[in-house]
Amino acid sequence: MRVAHIAFECSPIFKTGGLGDVVGSLPKELNKLGVESVVVMPKYGWIQYPKNLPGSDVKVFYADSHFFNKPNPSHDPKITAPKYAHFAILALDELKRQNFVPDIIQCHDWHAGLVPFLIKKHHDAFFENTKTIVTLHNIAFKGNFPVRYLNTPQTKHILDLFNSRQKVISFLKEGIKNTDFVTTVSPYHAREIRSGKVSFGFKQVIRKKKGKFIGILNGLDYQFWNPRGDKFIFQKFNLNTVKSGKSDNKIKLQKELSLEKNPDIPLFAFIARLTSQKGIELLLPLVENAGKKRIQIVILGKGERKYTKLLKEYAQKEELKSWISVNFGFNEKLAHRIYGAADFFLIPSFYEPCGLTQMIAMRYGSIPIAARVGGLKDSIDEGKNGWLFQEHTEKAFKQKIDLALRLWENPEKLQHMRERCMHKDFSWRRSAKAYLRLYNRLLK
Ligand code: ADP
Repeated sequence: MRVAHIAFECSPIFKTGGLGDVVGSLPKELNKLGVESVVVMPKYGWIQYPKNLPGSDVKVFYADSHFFNKPNPSHDPKITAPKYAHFAILALDELKRQNFVPDIIQCHDWHAGLVPFLIKKHHDAFFENTKTIVTLHNIAFKGNFPVRYLNTPQTKHILDLFNSRQKVISFLKEGIKNTDFVTTVSPYHAREIRSGKVSFGFKQVIRKKKGKFIGILNGLDYQFWNPRGDKFIFQKFNLNTVKSGKSDNKIKLQKELSLEKNPDIPLFAFIARLTSQKGIELLLPLVENAGKKRIQIVILGKGERKYTKLLKEYAQKEELKSWISVNFGFNEKLAHRIYGAADFFLIPSFYEPCGLTQMIAMRYGSIPIAARVGGLKDSIDEGKNGWLFQEHTEKAFKQKIDLALRLWENPEKLQHMRERCMHKDFSWRRSAKAYLRLYNRLLK
């Protein structure tokens, strides 16, 4: 069986978030199950282009468009729209150029949303027997644009495929409407979408996919995220050495980030895109009170200016200097060091389709405190290997923080909970098998 994954990011070649992690690891696991998998991604002007996903025989093909030569930091929709339309066109061209006839094309998020649309409309013999899947990693991002933005030399030929009265195009909606199957990245999030609780206006579109929509929990690349072999962390550790390992990592991180060096201070961490989805409003009161509570909080994030501005203000307060560390930008090495050092990991998201940070944190023995939504609910067992708060309020969040602080006072129980976190199996194997079952079902 041949499967092509089409996505705008693929770790470690280019990554901005969890989607990159998934596209960089699921195909490798599928290959192990005998599925010949390839990835098609943009040929960004500032990255390297390995032929294979590092450490595997998964081939990577690159869609080479001038749109990807340099970043588009302002996210100008006049550029973004034709950019990803061109990506969809070129991704299919590239599969043909490489003579890779896919049984399945798995399209990740809206960036690849026009792929099923183009396949349906073009009736190309090359893709005659190809089935498509659209995987929703974040349904909030729909890729909605005025159709006229596609009137560029590279993309105008597909304008004829649209209804002439259509003024706006949603890349994701076209993907969902035209695909054979839709998946999202956790079973509970699938329920949230179906019920309309978190569907961003797509409840009806998804309803029409009755029987053709499921949630499969993401896994983690256990080679890349591995406290025993992590090249970035100061001190490698395993289940037997987690206590001293985390303590060493903490002291070194405290030093690196100019925090008070003391392993007895509980260290809380937050790593995320700084957007409203991630519940930063709940984090701020905790940050403000870090000194009073005698806890340290390390934040790493990249995102909206309103949040960076607020966090910067806190970071500049004299009384918070040895208690909080605020770090902006995308920094893989620092992220690993934080996972390695943190005692507790904060994820107060409003919604979280799957969330990988809780899985990574648990792998590194950092206990998650998270909102009871999406994949967080599917991966954290309340009170056993973390805490989930139901109401999205400061009070509910604080209650769980207080439980964490109580646990901190009891080293033996703390150790047990850490061990339960590290025991939890988030390797890709199980989820990859679920995808394989789905592929077989579609090809029957
Ligand atoms: P999302 O996909 O919504 O961004 P996930 O929890 O699924 O969230 O995945 C986030 C991934 O991105 C994790 O691997 C996390 O470690 C990483 N990450 C997020 N922000 C940063 C950052 N500023 N620097 C380094 N890694 C980051």
